[in-house]
Amino acid sequence: MQRIPMIAGNWKMNTTLSEALKLVKEMLPGLEKLEGMEKVLCPPFVSLAAMQNLLRGTSLKLGAQNLYYAEKGAYTGEISAPMLAELCDYVIVGHSERRHIFGETDSMVNKKVQAALKVHLLPIICVGEKLEENEAGRTREVVTGQLKAALDGVSEAGELVIAYEPVWAIGTGKAATGRQANETVALIRSTILGLYGEKTAHNVRILYGGSVTPANILEYMKQPQIDGALVGGASIKAIDFFSIVSQTAEMGKKCE
Ligand code: PEP
Repeated sequence: MQRIPMIAGNWKMNTTLSEALKLVKEMLPGLEKLEGMEKVLCPPFVSLAAMQNLLRGTSLKLGAQNLYYAEKGAYTGEISAPMLAELCDYVIVGHSERRHIFGETDSMVNKKVQAALKVHLLPIICVGEKLEENEAGRTREVVTGQLKAALDGVSEAGELVIAYEPVWAIGTGKAATGRQANETVALIRSTILGLYGEKTAHNVRILYGGSVTPANILEYMKQPQIDGALVGGASIKAIDFFSIVSQTAEMGKKCE
């Protein structure tokens, strides 16, 4: 089986409903034609339902940016996995902005992963080290620690997606080199191999994220272990996102 490359756009806390619809209408005609890969848009919660209507029957998929792990109840302001499962296919879990601005712990990330999988919502699990951890040579330890914690008690991992996002590269313009990213993605795949065996390690898609742009996307896609990208800033610029996705599609990467 081949892994299908994926480019996912994390719009973060950008775009009102009308702005989101305008942006997606601008992107859709170009993106719709690109084949051989998965294209995922992750807008703010408030735009998911309207975007679902707009994207129905197209080749674009939707993802949410976060969820809460309880199924329902007195959790004012939170959004549960069953709510999202009616709206989208994917959900980003453990993004570094959630971990570091909102204090999300490894244990919360794990509960969110389990809650998503329970309703067949596919998590895009983000892991990555901070600058000081990188400089202290702790990347391997931090990344494998976050990954193992996120997957604790998860029995099947072949369908979920992992994004290696070094915190120092997110929104900073200081992207990892292709070689650096590939090395850590290879480490993630070998950790999955140890946890779940060869078939799962082969099937699981692992993305790179951190200041991906039209100028550097191919540097990542050329790496043997990298299956795609989670794109922040460049995903809300229609021209840039189209360029990232179209370069990926044109490359026609077969991830085997
Ligand atoms: C992200 O938010 O996941 C991200 C990678 O952001 P940026 O591309 O802006 O660095």
